[in-house]
Formats: sequence, C-alpha cells, structure tokens
Amino acid sequence: MGAKHLIPIDEQRPAAMFWADIIEAHSAPDDVVLVPFAMDTTIASAALKAARRVILLVRTPAQQLRLWARLVPIDEVGRRRALSRLAETTKRDTPLDLHIQSLYQTTCSVCGEQTSAIAFILDPTRQVPVEKELACQACGFLGRTSADEEDVERAAQFERRGLSFWFILEWLVDAQDTSGREIARRHLDSYSPRNLMALADITRKIDADLADDPASQHILRVWLLHALDAGRLQPDPIDETRVVERNVWHLLTHAPAADGIGIPVRVTTELETFFRKLDPAPNVALVAGPVRRLARGLPEECITLMVGAPPVLDADAWTWEQLWSRWVFGRGAAGGGGLLPPIGGWTRHVRALGATMATLLRTLHPDGHAIFHFHDGDPDRAHALLMAMAPCARIEDFVYQPPVAEPAHLFDAIGGTYHIAFTPAQPTEQPFLLNAHDLAATIEESVVDAASGVVADRAEPLPYG
Ligand SMILES: [Zn+2]
Repeated sequence: MGAKHLIPIDEQRPAAMFWADIIEAHSAPDDVVLVPFAMDTTIASAALKAARRVILLVRTPAQQLRLWARLVPIDEVGRRRALSRLAETTKRDTPLDLHIQSLYQTTCSVCGEQTSAIAFILDPTRQVPVEKELACQACGFLGRTSADEEDVERAAQFERRGLSFWFILEWLVDAQDTSGREIARRHLDSYSPRNLMALADITRKIDADLADDPASQHILRVWLLHALDAGRLQPDPIDETRVVERNVWHLLTHAPAADGIGIPVRVTTELETFFRKLDPAPNVALVAGPVRRLARGLPEECITLMVGAPPVLDADAWTWEQLWSRWVFGRGAAGGGGLLPPIGGWTRHVRALGATMATLLRTLHPDGHAIFHFHDGDPDRAHALLMAMAPCARIEDFVYQPPVAEPAHLFDAIGGTYHIAFTPAQPTEQPFLLNAHDLAATIEESVVDAASGVVADRAEPLPYG
C-alpha cells in the first residue's frame, strides 16, 4: 500500500482520459461498469467509448433527467417542435410565449421601442430593478442600461405571496406535510414573484396541455429544469451587492444543448431491462432512487468495476434536487422522500454509507475493483469512505495528493485529490482493520510520498511533514 500506485495522479490531465485509463486497466469490453453516485456523464462516456456497459445510479428524478439529456442529445427539430407547441398554448387567450415575454416588457433606452428584458438587476433589499439587460428586438442593442420608472412599477405588480406562489407550494408539497411546506416556502423565496408566476404558468402548460405529447414533454422538462436552476435570484457577477432576475422564457429558449457523447446510447431506466437479453441491448441503465435500494436490484457479482466519488453530505443541494424533481414531475411522481436528507450528522452518515457500500460490494465480482477518485477541501469524505468500506473490503491503493497550485494561505493546502481503490474482501480473509493509528500512518505515508514528489518537481519545501 502506498509505495506502488496503479494510476499516478496528474491533475493537469482531463478527467475523461484519467477514467479511460482506469476502465481500460480494470475491465474488458461488454463488462458492466457501475457508477453508484453519478453526478455527471464523464465516466459513463469514457466507459461507453470503450464498449463497456454502464449502470448509473442517481438519487433523484431531476438528476436522472439532467444526465439523460447529456447522454442522448435532443435534436434541433424535436426541440423547435416542443418549444412551438408550448408557445402555442394560451393564457387568457394570449399565446404563452407572448404572455410570458410581456411580464418582462420594457422600453429600450436606445431606440425607445418596446422589447422584453433578458434580465433585471435588482436591489436585493427592496427587490426593485435598478438596471436591465437588453437584446433589443427593434434596434439590436445588446447590453445593460438603467431601469426606468415603468420597470419599477411593473415589478411591483407581482405579489410576493400571490396565486402562483400558492399554486407552486401546493404542486410541490402535500398540505399535511407541514415541515415540508416550511422548507419549500423558504426555498421559493429564492425566486422573484415575477419568475414564480412565469414558472408556474410554464409548469402547468407542460403538464396539462402537452400530456398527449410525451416526447415534447420530455424535452421541455429538460429546459424547465435548467430554467428552475438559473431562474433563481443570483448574485450579479458585475456587482455582488445586487441580484439578477433572468427572463424565464429567455432561459427556456436559450438553454445550452448538450452534444451527446458521439456514439449511440441506448438508455433504459429499469435494471431488469438492462439485464434482459435484448437485441440491441441497452448500454446504459440510468436509475433514480436510494442507492442502497437500487443496489439490491442488481444480480450478485455482476459488476467488474465500480467507480466514482463517494456522496457529499450537502443538505441544501439535496433539498433543491428533491424540490426540482417534484416541480418537474409533480409531487407524486418524484418517488416520495422528505425534502431534507434522511441523515442527521456525521455518525449516521457514515453508518448509512457503510450499509450502502456493503450492499454495493455484493454486486462486485470477486476479482473486481471499486475505485473512488475525488477532490475535496477537507479529508472528511475520504474518512467516511474508509470507515464505510472497512468491514467489507481491502484497500488496494491509497493516494493523497495536495493541490498542485500554490495555496493562497498556508492552511488552504489541507484539501487535495484522493484516490482510493478497494477489492472485495475474500470470505476467508480478515477485512482491513481500521483504527486511528493505522489510518493516520496510511495517510501520512501517502502525504509524504506526494509531498516529496512535489518538492522534487518544484525544488522547494511545502507545509507538510
Ligand atoms: Zn432598441
């Protein structure tokens, strides 16, 4: 352990190349690669290009939709069709696109014509527009100008706890769920009343008026998810004392489209279908739910390689993912679950991770590998992973590498890259015993290794030792 590493870490190399090497070294074509806490499609893409089959386990339907859109690009024809179907639905006899654009209507400060602002820049305490961002439909002016009296009056017309607010709250959380309602209410305040109204109208139309067109619904939900994320009040990148309110229709129609990964991807959302003998067989299973429950649905020893990063304990990110899942698919379709993570603090997190890892390792082939590679600001996630794996796996490789870049302050250098590889513990074998002394020795050995490498490269000492 420590002295001879399977894969050297090079932070300058793209992650895709790094994972391609890991996949090449530890699996063969047609093998199944499992990504148990998938956050993006980097690993899946590397595995598919090497003709492996991939299982991606994600926590929420929102994550599932996001990864799907990255794996299977939405074609331009389908996208235009979906958007025009949505635009043609009506709100009080007005086509929806005109209705939503009218919420952001303003006078161009250059040519004096009416146009829709791309964004308003607000004073966050009074939520009053002080500037606006234009792409004027009349004169082509592109940029920021001061907001005028009319902009301030229009913004004031949208009630903070108006009908749209109550509609969305009802849409997201059951009336009986008082703590869920409180959490949702707090999160909804991240949207301006105007954006909440626009998002409520769009959500309703996608759900009800396009129910006969699931293909368009799927595409629009991808863009809705993007609009939900970017449509929150965000700090202004130019002046951080202000916030930006973006035009939701503009977000919906200008969402960045993913290119896909360049090879045919056949996705299934059911593990059963993935393992059925089909021709052509799906090469990706993209499944949402609690990872431990999903892992129980996998055949024993079917996985050659398990890769990725251990989950992050981030209550706020979790809550948003749950809220957006309910927002996009309705509160019933999002698979239930509370709006706060079902974990309370460090000890329970490690225990839950341990149970999940034990279930996951049962799916790993006896000659298989579980490799976790991640960057972190502190060693907590690596500690949690080691403690969770201790009862059921052997450490094959442990590398810690401090950041290559010069730290701004001495103690910023505590973060770094972790690379921890495991093999399943054989039944006759004693799993690795984790005590504070051994763990400290392992980490120290790895740090000294890494530090001496860096010292040799840079010919100067580092604050480690
Ligand atoms: Zn103009």
